Amino acid sequence: MPKNTLLDKRRTILLYPAVQLCLFRMLNIDLHCHSNISDGILPPAEVAARAKANGVDVWALTDHDEVDGIREARQAAADVNLEYVPGVEISVTWAGQTVHVVGLHIDETSESLVCGLAATRAGRERRATDIAGQLATAGIPGALEGALKFVGNPDLISRMHFARYILELGLCTDVGDVFRNYLIEGKPGYVPHRWATLQDAVGWIRGAGGIAVMAHPGRYKYSDLAFGELFDEFKQLGGTAIEVVTGSHTVDQYSQYAKVANHYGFLGSRGSDFHGPGESRVELGALPPLPDNVKPVWHDWPR
Ligand code: AMP
Ligand code: MN
Ligand code: MN
Ligand code: MN
Repeated sequence: MPKNTLLDKRRTILLYPAVQLCLFRMLNIDLHCHSNISDGILPPAEVAARAKANGVDVWALTDHDEVDGIREARQAAADVNLEYVPGVEISVTWAGQTVHVVGLHIDETSESLVCGLAATRAGRERRATDIAGQLATAGIPGALEGALKFVGNPDLISRMHFARYILELGLCTDVGDVFRNYLIEGKPGYVPHRWATLQDAVGWIRGAGGIAVMAHPGRYKYSDLAFGELFDEFKQLGGTAIEVVTGSHTVDQYSQYAKVANHYGFLGSRGSDFHGPGESRVELGALPPLPDNVKPVWHDWPR
């Protein structure tokens, strides 16, 4: 083989992963959002259609503690020729705070995952009654019935449904305003709750053949020391990635968590955390791309 051809071939081989990574960066990938199977507003098929209309190329629906929307989401995505990734967002309690872990490429029929999620959902109904009791004491009667009007899945009543009711009453200006005044620690309607352990959540995801991604780390209020322990433990349990570009992060946090990802050897993920039109800060597929210095969680996904 002439020398130049060989050189070209080598170059192509060497360049190939870089070209692939570059092409992957150009895709619009949204790996975090919700339907009315948890606390989103739209049914899974409408979320799929909206993702497609917004130019999303690869899409994951990640309902809280629930995989019931996956069948509809997968079918709807296929109908509009949208690449689909089965997902879930699991509620975890770690060091007294709630942490969310997204599972991607899960087998939603995995028995340990299905049972684990059912156990995680189990306390929600009781908690909702307690939240409503507190709100009644604070002068907002009928909050359980009010919240239930927004619930698509009786198994999954979330603080978000209460937030929508409080908004409907005109007591707050938007969802952020609700969560500054109600439903959080120290405010009316806050009921402490123990979710899954980090070990269980990552174990269920990995047991279902999935990839564990820590959702919106910038939202947690840990000390630097505790954050280090959280990331170490997540890594040790087999966590693969953290969300870097998410609707919950500021622009400064994109670069901050890109550094964190590189420091701990995590891949980076991107997801809007879209819940509904006119409600979410960020639309499906509308976030900036991942920073160049972080390796995308999808870098080796077959297409
Ligand atoms: P739960 O799982 O019932 O505790 O509800 C948590 C949900 O409430 C999250 O998934 C968000 O949808 C919503 N939420 C919590 N805090 C906020 C906030 N500060 N702004 C907007 N939505 C929030
Ligand atoms: Mn939510
Ligand atoms: Mn979350
Ligand atoms: Mn979410």
